[in-house]
Parts: sequence; C-alpha cells; structure tokens
Amino acid sequence: MQIPLVDLKAQYQALRPEIDAAIAAVMAEAAFVGNVSNPFVRKFAEEFAAFVGVKHCVPCANGTDAIEILLQAAGVGPGDEVIVPAVSWIATSEAVTTVGARPVFADIDPRTCTLSPEDFVRKITPRTKAVIPVHLYGQPADMDPILATAKDRGLFVLEDCAQAHGARYRGRQVGTIGDAASFSFFPGKNLGAYGDAGGMVTNDEALASRARMISQHGQGKGKHDHQIEGRNSRLDGIHAAVLSVKLKYLAQGNARRREHAAHYLRLLANTGLTFQHAPATDYHVYHLFTVQVARRDEIVAELQRDGIGVTIQYPRALPLLAAYASRGHEPADFPAAAALTARVLSLPMYPELTVEQIEWTAKRLREAVGV
Ligand SMILES: *Cc1c(COP(=O)(O)O)cnc(C)c1O
Repeated sequence: MQIPLVDLKAQYQALRPEIDAAIAAVMAEAAFVGNVSNPFVRKFAEEFAAFVGVKHCVPCANGTDAIEILLQAAGVGPGDEVIVPAVSWIATSEAVTTVGARPVFADIDPRTCTLSPEDFVRKITPRTKAVIPVHLYGQPADMDPILATAKDRGLFVLEDCAQAHGARYRGRQVGTIGDAASFSFFPGKNLGAYGDAGGMVTNDEALASRARMISQHGQGKGKHDHQIEGRNSRLDGIHAAVLSVKLKYLAQGNARRREHAAHYLRLLANTGLTFQHAPATDYHVYHLFTVQVARRDEIVAELQRDGIGVTIQYPRALPLLAAYASRGHEPADFPAAAALTARVLSLPMYPELTVEQIEWTAKRLREAVGV
C-alpha cells in the first residue's frame, strides 16, 4: 500500500469545483497581486482574523517573512537577542538573523517537545528582546509560564503558529496569546495555499500598521507615499482565493487529524513507544503525528521501502546544524532536543487519510520496531 506523508491531491479532488471557481474569479478580475485594494486578499485577511479571533491580519508572502517582518515591526534588530526553541524549522532562527539580531537557543520540554519555560528563563540576558515559542507539530507551547516571564522581563512574545492553525492552549486560540503571531500557508501546512503564502496576526493596531507598511515597500497613505524603506512581501490573489475556500474546511480537517491521531495511539498502545505529550487542556491539531523510537534511521528506511511516507522532522536540533557551527554547541547543551531529534519520526497524517492506511502503517511500524 502506497501511503504518502501528506496527500494534497486528495484534498484538491475533494474541493475541486469550489477551488477551480475561486481561481477563475481571480483570473477574471486580474486581481493577481496582493496590494491593499485586492478584494480577494482583503477578504481572506478578514476571514482569517475572525477565525483566529484577533483584530488584525496582515497577509504576506510566506511564514518566514511573517516572523521577520513582525520582529522588525516590534523594533528588534542589531544588538538584540531573541530566544527560540532548539527544535523547529530553521525559518524560526533564520528570521532572527535576517533582522540583524542573534538567535539564542533554549532546550525543549522533553514531554511536549515545545520550548522549555525553565530553559527560556536561563537563556535571558540583558540583551534579550523577544522570545518565539513554536507550537511544534500542532501542539501549543506552554504559554502561561512563558508569558509570565516575558511580562516580567518586558520581552516581545511572537508565537510561531506555522504548524498550528486552529490549535488551542487552555481554551485560547494560538495566535491570540502572545503580542503577535506568524502563520505559514505553505501548501503542506494545516491551512495551505497553492504556493508560498503567509500571514501575521495581532491585536496591536500600531504593530499591524507597521508590519503592513514594511511588507508593502514602506507605503503610507497612498501610492508613492513611502514613509520608510520596506520590502515586497505580499499574498497573491490566487492564493488568497484558495485560502478562503480551504479556511472553511480547516476546523473539520483538524478534527479529522485528531481522530487519526487517537486511532494511531490506540493501535500503538502498550508498545513502549514514546509519543509527544498532548495535555488534555489543549487542542493539538496534529500537523504531524510523531513517534520516538530507538534505531530510528533503520525503521524509517524499512517503512519507506514499504511505500509508507515516513519522514523525520527534524533530524538535527537547530543549534547543531552546520549553519550554527560557529556557536560551538554540543548535544549535551540541549539534552532534550538532542534526544528527540535522534529518535523522532513522522507518520502519514492528513485529513483524507483512511482507517485502512492508519492500520497498515501502525502494523508495519510495530513489526519494524518488534513490539
Ligand atoms: C513552515 C514553517 C515556517 C516557515 O514558513 P514558510 O511559509 O515555509 O516560510 C516557520 N516556522 C515553522 C515552525 C514552520 O514549520
């Protein structure tokens, strides 16, 4: 049985008439570029802000730009340090460097795999200006202690929600908890466009208008009124129209992902395997369903030979990547991140996954592990 990690073709087939009509409408209007007057972009931004439960959504070109622009809008730059978790996609730390600041890595909590609130405190210095908790794999970071520390130290809190559209932390939607949040609408995310796309959300009006200005060449009130030098980071009309269609199915897709995760967990119970801890108070949206195993690389190769789209997110902790070799970090500096990245693998996960596919994957995993 061939089982992909993510099946975007199945999703397109399910929504095809609506998506085709949405794209045709953009073509008919020639509303291609996401400038302020694009009705498709404005509509999606309003819908997404309402979905998250925030006052402002500023769309942009991708999730990496969203982090970068929000940091810049918050005044983070050269001389500043920004604390990021040791396990994430490199975009989280890369965006800190791009604005001229220095990413400082903190270890993860070994159970939830998200930023350790204790190691975050330990990594604060007089130069620390912000923290970027990442809601990894769809599980919200432990925001209450992180916020308490940030408030106490006057730090800007930017939630990286790229893997967690619609997730909730103790009843609160991710994206509403910190000072601002970044989303990616990369095709494979829980809410994905048909190319690169991203968005920034916040309740802070001044921050939103600075972010909007930066993303549109520093444009002020009208055309050719450039208040500052900004950049070009816009959401295209076609992506906005696709996202408006897909947003209607996001909650349902997340609910399906949770059912699939529960089914995997039932089938893999009493095997001694380790799973990401998902506190019952939170709503994990399973962008990825991960399992931690010994002999990970052998097991991944065996399942891949079987046609099961197992992958590794991520095989190395961020501070141990070649990109950060100059820091001289060692695995012992981030014991929980090093342990997770040595053992973690991701099983196929997407709303259209079938019960047969889940059962086959779980059976083959048990056989490969020998439990
Ligand atoms: C995908 C992702 C990003 C970056 O989003 P892009 O749209 O690919 O630029 C940032 N952070 C995390 C945790 C991600 O998974």
